[in-house]
Amino acid sequence: MHERLSSARYDRASAHRADTEWIAEQWADPASRVVVLAGTRIRPVDGAIEWLSPAQAPGGARLMLGVRDGIAHFAVVTTELAATDAWLPLRSLLSFLTQEEAPLILHAVGLAEWMSATRFCARCGLPLDPVKEGHELVCGHGHTTFPRTDPAVIMLITHGEPGTAVEQCLLGRHPTWPAGRFSTLAGFCEPGESLEDAVRREVMEEVGIDVGDVEYFGNQPWPLPASLMLGFTGVAASTDIVCDEDEIEDARWFTREELRAGAETGELILPGGVSISRSLIEAWYGEALPGSW
Ligand SMILES: [Zn+2]
Repeated sequence: MHERLSSARYDRASAHRADTEWIAEQWADPASRVVVLAGTRIRPVDGAIEWLSPAQAPGGARLMLGVRDGIAHFAVVTTELAATDAWLPLRSLLSFLTQEEAPLILHAVGLAEWMSATRFCARCGLPLDPVKEGHELVCGHGHTTFPRTDPAVIMLITHGEPGTAVEQCLLGRHPTWPAGRFSTLAGFCEPGESLEDAVRREVMEEVGIDVGDVEYFGNQPWPLPASLMLGFTGVAASTDIVCDEDEIEDARWFTREELRAGAETGELILPGGVSISRSLIEAWYGEALPGSW
């Protein structure tokens, strides 16, 4: 229900990643589709992602993303093309992506981000080369490095009798954001920490609020550069806000009425529709709200 940017619509075909014959067949098929990345960036053409045939693609590290509707989809990560301003990072691409292609693009960018940040073997220091169609890196000693995904928690904290006019939710804003922008709080899970404890710790650190019960909501891949956003709702056990001003410039409690009124006038600007933050806020509010980043 709360899966955003789910990849259920294509088969990652992981069993074929080491199958050179199958890969060669797909790569020779002019119907196969390829998206090109310069480093970790993609250049949209006429406001859309450009999918090429394999013959049209430049040289570079090839990533096999999977099969959708019987058609193999690849990415090529090239260093041959200069990443000019026309090449956009994922955050700027989100508004271009169709529901169908978004999971493929997140897969491609996630691998490209990992490859660009992972040049040398952590065990012996030798350079790494991609194998398994970009899903593993291996050094000259045969040490294998796997892509990493960093768990991050994102949470909507509430206070007051659930479902009533006095119930409030907690939103905050970063010091660097444009005026009016507010979102749910978020942070990374630390080693040895449960997700629920990460929610409680982050909320305490950022705004000084004590959180009791925490419930899982849903998740969203967020390879910026390597996060998996795990959404939670939590019930506040205290209400006095004390902001950690390095991370949070302002945080406030909003009733549903205040959320709607602020979103309608534009005084309150909520996160975009593709984000799990938006889902958390709208699920609590009860329906869609106007306006977004
Ligand atoms: Zn090594």
